[in-house]
Amino acid sequence: MAFLADHLKRIKPSPTIAVTDKARALKAAGRNVIGLGAGEPDFDTPEHIKEAAIRAIREGRASKYTAVDGLPELKQAVAAKFKRENGLEYKTSQITVSAGGKQVLYNAFMATLNPGDEVIIPAPYWVSYPDMVLLAGGKPVEVVCGMDKGFKITPEALERAITAKTKWFLLNSPSNPTGAAYTRAELRALADVLLRHPHVHIMTDDMYEHLIYDNFVFTTPAQVEPELYPRTLTVNGVSKAYCMTGWRIGYAGGPEPLIKAMAMIQSQSTTNPAAASQWAAVEALNGPQDFIPKHNKIFQERRDLVVSMLNQAKGIKCPTPEGAFYVYPSCAGTMGKTTPTGKTLATDEDFVTELLEQEGVAVVHGSAFGLGPAFRISYATRNEDLEEACNRIQRFCGNLK
Ligand code: PLP
Repeated sequence: MAFLADHLKRIKPSPTIAVTDKARALKAAGRNVIGLGAGEPDFDTPEHIKEAAIRAIREGRASKYTAVDGLPELKQAVAAKFKRENGLEYKTSQITVSAGGKQVLYNAFMATLNPGDEVIIPAPYWVSYPDMVLLAGGKPVEVVCGMDKGFKITPEALERAITAKTKWFLLNSPSNPTGAAYTRAELRALADVLLRHPHVHIMTDDMYEHLIYDNFVFTTPAQVEPELYPRTLTVNGVSKAYCMTGWRIGYAGGPEPLIKAMAMIQSQSTTNPAAASQWAAVEALNGPQDFIPKHNKIFQERRDLVVSMLNQAKGIKCPTPEGAFYVYPSCAGTMGKTTPTGKTLATDEDFVTELLEQEGVAVVHGSAFGLGPAFRISYATRNEDLEEACNRIQRFCGNLK
């Protein structure tokens, strides 16, 4: 009898973590490696947020268990955020808080999926979505959205993907890995499809809400079509905009029975997220927000630098995304070509492996996100490193025959 569970056979380790580990190992061996794999801001958590956590620890507010799915103060801060920034009214009984957006999504799938239930996932997608659905016993239904569609699902493609078994439509805007974000008009058109299928629920992952450029206006489905509100789970968190990936706080607003079920799952797995982190998140949401546009200005400059330099690399085509801190260039123009060391590039995995081996630049292959040949670059890193990495990519591509 096998010791490990069968469901492990359905999932794979995160390819983004695998790339980061490989880059780290090469660095430890003395190689000059620039890692563009990690999905987190290079900025530190703002001081006032750190101080709020330190105060909570000193005052004994972080020593004990809290309510399973969040301190009342944090739920109030989340409800106020949804009202202030998204025009959405949630009672605190409709709010859940978990150890990161990842746990929120996982709880939601665990709470709702029966064997055979389908989840529509536009590809390219964040690597964890299909595996979370599989672990919860559901069936991921991937809908490929190519570069020609701006990496966005069209109303026609959504309509075609819906079946009687569809439980969720999962939307991520701005997107990891492409940075693509949906305009209000695009969401409106998707909402019209969803209105025709009342059995489909909407899980919207708005984690990169604040990371948008060129005056793009962020909107979320329940805001665009109030009729979708009772069947939408609006997921968000403090990890990316507030530079708090290590603190592990994510949250969501949604229908009360779902929120209750998610709390039950959490109560039998991890209980509350760390109390000190929750107090930090209260300060993040209620405190000054002025550092966000400052960070965005830097991110936008980096995005423009990377897009422009990549488009000068032979065989690379890189669109300009609306948000997040990723670009998703196609490397189709390099496929079939050979490196000076005699390796022929047959897949985007070959491309990123050879790029790391020969030039010491770590990126993640697009096929890991469900659409290749392409790769993902995270530009949440110093300008000097980005410029050097892009020079190396240009040289790598220039040397292909
Ligand atoms: N959703 C998307 C699209 C992400 O890219 C990430 C993190 O990379 C998450 C959710 C999870 O965020 P957290 O670190 O809060 O769990």
